[in-house]
Amino acid sequence: MNSPSSFIVTIDGPAASGKSSVSREVAKKLGWSWVSTGAFYRGLAYIAHAKGADLSSEDSVVKIAQSPDWAVRMTPEETCVFMGSQDVTSEIGKEEVGSLASKISSFPKVRAALLDAQRQCAVGVTGLVAEGRDCGTVVFPKAQVKIFLTARAEDRAARRATEQGHDLEHIVREQQKRDAQDANRKAAPLQAPADAHVIDTTELSFIEVVEKVEDFIVSARQG
Ligand code: C5P
Repeated sequence: MNSPSSFIVTIDGPAASGKSSVSREVAKKLGWSWVSTGAFYRGLAYIAHAKGADLSSEDSVVKIAQSPDWAVRMTPEETCVFMGSQDVTSEIGKEEVGSLASKISSFPKVRAALLDAQRQCAVGVTGLVAEGRDCGTVVFPKAQVKIFLTARAEDRAARRATEQGHDLEHIVREQQKRDAQDANRKAAPLQAPADAHVIDTTELSFIEVVEKVEDFIVSARQG
């Protein structure tokens, strides 16, 4: 499943647990590629919505997922989403798009339609740090290092509220709904892979979390 020479690190966890910033920093320090698999779901949800598709219809969303009208590209700073030639990356970060993404991500056929493109991110690279909900369980089950990040729900919501300028109560409600939806769905629910290192980031600084992940990678490369 992994490309023969690529070293794969997966970082999964609930909304705003720090997955994106930590995984991006780890990849940057190692000079490896980085991908947010959430960007696939966010991008697809955004584009399906923009095209007026019925987001409650699995087949309608799959049709858009399989169309050549959109693309996802990795860069060291962002996982970019294009609708045709239009870069819509700046549109997909909002919590509203996260909610739509969570809705369509419960469809098994939608997940299956995105899987191949997500796995392709590991092809032809020295190393890949992939973050999301099911990177260690479904996308890269043979990853050499698997991390699961957790943090107190209030702290995660406060982080997102500050980033997005929303009021805290609104974000707490939206995130709780999204986490419950992601954890309780039948297809690839949010869960820590059995062989993951679980890191609770609540009492840790950003640098401390990055260093812990780096330590796990160093041990795995030595072992
Ligand atoms: O991580 P992010 O907040 O960008 O993810 C948005 C949504 O996409 C999640 O709430 C989840 O429903 C879905 N997702 C998923 N599997 C992944 C990554 C994201 O189902 N690997």
